[in-house]
Amino acid sequence: MNATEIRIGVLALQGAVSEHIDAFRLALEEMSLSDNSTVVTVRHADEIPHLDGLAIPGGESTTISRLIDKNQMRRPIEEFDGGIFATCAGMVLMATNVDDPRLTTLGLIDMDVIRNAFGRQKESFEADLEINGFGSPYHAIFIRAPVASSAGKGTEVLSTIDKGIVAVRKGKHYALAFHPELGWDLRFQVRFLEGLY
Ligand code: GLN
Repeated sequence: MNATEIRIGVLALQGAVSEHIDAFRLALEEMSLSDNSTVVTVRHADEIPHLDGLAIPGGESTTISRLIDKNQMRRPIEEFDGGIFATCAGMVLMATNVDDPRLTTLGLIDMDVIRNAFGRQKESFEADLEINGFGSPYHAIFIRAPVASSAGKGTEVLSTIDKGIVAVRKGKHYALAFHPELGWDLRFQVRFLEGLY
């Protein structure tokens, strides 16, 4: 039995919540950490400081941003000292700059993001990506995905495709343009969790 205790929360205001919960539970099991660890939904600001990791799911970044404010979660997320696992709309929210003036982002990763970088014709697609630090390609599912056109201070670019950057790490934080909660490859979850203890 492993005594390591990791508390993961999935921001459950809008978007793909249950898939993230299932994927993190499986990843913790795979790492033999599930005995003491928890994966919960997060809807209230006061839950955030008790977590080691917070997932911000895909969905509609404008809606999630509005609900973050409505639930007074902006400061607690900005001041959170754990890791953030941000996917798709979550990646948009992590950026310092976005090409949509309606959006107030969290600004936790120094990068410029293009919200709907693939336009209407290519709203969703799948691609095998080369990821820094992975020994074999990662099959990624993109749904109305953003990309980062640049990433700055303190960031590690983990993957780039012709349109731009699709995976970035900054310290314990990950921002992924695709949906790692869909499919069976848990390498991103495992790598994120490894950074939390
Ligand atoms: N491009 C969308 C947005 O900015 C995100 C799409 C997604 O999360 N699947 O809100």
